[in-house]
Amino acid sequence: MVSSLPKPASWLRVEPGGLHVVPGDFYVDPVRPADRAVITHGHADHARPGNASVLATDQTLAIMRARYGDQAGASLQALAYHEPVEIGEVSVRLVPAGHVLGSAQVVLEYRGSRVVVSGDYKRGADPTCAPFEPVPCDVFITEATFGLPVFRHPPAGDEIAKLLNSVALFPERSHLVGVYSLGKCQRVIALLRQAGYDRPIYLHGALIALTELYQRLGVRLGDVRPMADVAKGDLRGEIVLAPPSAIADRWSRRLPDPVVCAASGWMRVRQRARQRGVELPMIISDHADWDELLATIDEVDAPEVWVTHGREEALVHQVSQSGRRAQALSLVGFEEDAVD
Ligand SMILES: [Zn+2]
Ligand SMILES: [Zn+2]
Repeated sequence: MVSSLPKPASWLRVEPGGLHVVPGDFYVDPVRPADRAVITHGHADHARPGNASVLATDQTLAIMRARYGDQAGASLQALAYHEPVEIGEVSVRLVPAGHVLGSAQVVLEYRGSRVVVSGDYKRGADPTCAPFEPVPCDVFITEATFGLPVFRHPPAGDEIAKLLNSVALFPERSHLVGVYSLGKCQRVIALLRQAGYDRPIYLHGALIALTELYQRLGVRLGDVRPMADVAKGDLRGEIVLAPPSAIADRWSRRLPDPVVCAASGWMRVRQRARQRGVELPMIISDHADWDELLATIDEVDAPEVWVTHGREEALVHQVSQSGRRAQALSLVGFEEDAVD
């Protein structure tokens, strides 16, 4: 089923394959392989394999190549931030989204109307990527992963301090921190370094490739080592990062008496932390929280806001109260908390 969206952006359609920019005949973050794709960032629910031609930042293309190899796309075109390119009748620009390394908002201009597809974004400082830049527009397409008033992220530095306090308190134990492999892992490492932690940080095998890629792309993360190279006893007092799926698994028995931690916006929900066996929840998110969503919508000052990718209803309601037109945009294929 194809649904047409209201003016001024009647040239954008939500189709089964994703968001179709009709006068340029390309898709933004297509959910099915497309002839032409513009990709906001490397998370797997946005950057999928198998497109014929892909336009993205060079960091996002590097991430896609690392994940997908030849399947990253038959033809890959890098576009620097702020550099305009014409696709058909549409002018396309990528602007930093502050979400993960290489992440971009896609600024689309067609016959005097400007639409910004934010992809995923956050406003808090992140030493591993360029900060979000608000772009005034006619239509702002926003994510809403944490689009409920209950979601307010504390300063990430405070959450890192909790971890470091626990490390100091339990020198005989290891600290095992669940982190997503792209973005969260490297941000947690960089935040630990910012806080002055200079010991080696140990990584589960699934986190190594992307962490090394970040380092090759110039993100400074200090001494990171594969956990597999170290004897169990030598991990006492150390910090080990692993994917969320590994923290409750048999794998974690390789660690000496681990304090199980997790860094995620979902750690605001105590029950989730408990269900996952997390002793030390750290609320660190790469998505905008409720206040950041509303502040950003005010800043870009779009008369029309389309909400996707999460808790759409509450945000649509709140934005409508402020006199803007708001509607939920159902984009199929995005997973609520696949990557946060
Ligand atoms: Zn993402
Ligand atoms: Zn996403």
